[in-house]
Amino acid sequence: MNPAQDTHEVYRTESTIRFACHHDLPCFTQCCRDVNIYLTPYDILRLRRSLRMGSGEFLARYTRHYLARVTHVPVVQLAMDSHTLRCPFVSDEGCRVYDDRPWACRMFPLDLGNESGVYRLLADKKRCLGLHEGQRWTVGEWLETQGVGPYEAMEQALQQVMPPEFQPGQRMEAGLGKLLYLAYDLDRFDAILDDPRFRALHGIDEDRYVAVRQNDEEKLLLAFAYIQRQIAELFSVL
Ligand code: SF4
Ligand code: SF4
Repeated sequence: MNPAQDTHEVYRTESTIRFACHHDLPCFTQCCRDVNIYLTPYDILRLRRSLRMGSGEFLARYTRHYLARVTHVPVVQLAMDSHTLRCPFVSDEGCRVYDDRPWACRMFPLDLGNESGVYRLLADKKRCLGLHEGQRWTVGEWLETQGVGPYEAMEQALQQVMPPEFQPGQRMEAGLGKLLYLAYDLDRFDAILDDPRFRALHGIDEDRYVAVRQNDEEKLLLAFAYIQRQIAELFSVL
């Protein structure tokens, strides 16, 4: 997750990369330091579940979160240690939350490009020695082995939350930004969901309520649907 050296190379699913990351490389875990890792709602769900804590506690302990100054879009970043600048989850043996590591960490050494199906090399070829190992992958193979599928699916669902007339980067009212932040802090959605009047209003019967309470992914999708309805109503009167 070092700054890219060559951001001009364009990679597609069928492009080939050489890469292998392992303990024997001198750079091992060096990339888990002083990096900007932006977390999605699904990243937070996976991480806080792995750590067996609520979203509120996770957000308070491990992130910097705010509404962007101009656009009011929620921004949640993994907070590096203020002294060592290391990720709070890195150890000498590697990532302590490997099975639930964020989307950005899974994609590394790649990152999303500017258009769908396009990727760019994020890693610095001089620092990330894994890029000089012999193992070859297509980009598609690499992403599949890293388990990015559910992260992409949740991101697509999140993109549906905003009305079609909303353009990425467009300014939104601070109230809308706070509403969208609910997807990052599902503890607060739990409290809403526990209110029988809310469930009656939104047609959530007892079976659905129990199912959603037992399945975090279902709960996140329900939160997206709720936020989408609220935002659509607000947009219609703004
Ligand atoms: S090979 Fe690259 S990804 Fe792996 S530890 Fe080294 S810098 Fe990080
Ligand atoms: S979450 Fe894991 S892989 Fe990502 S920066 Fe932290 S230690 Fe590294």
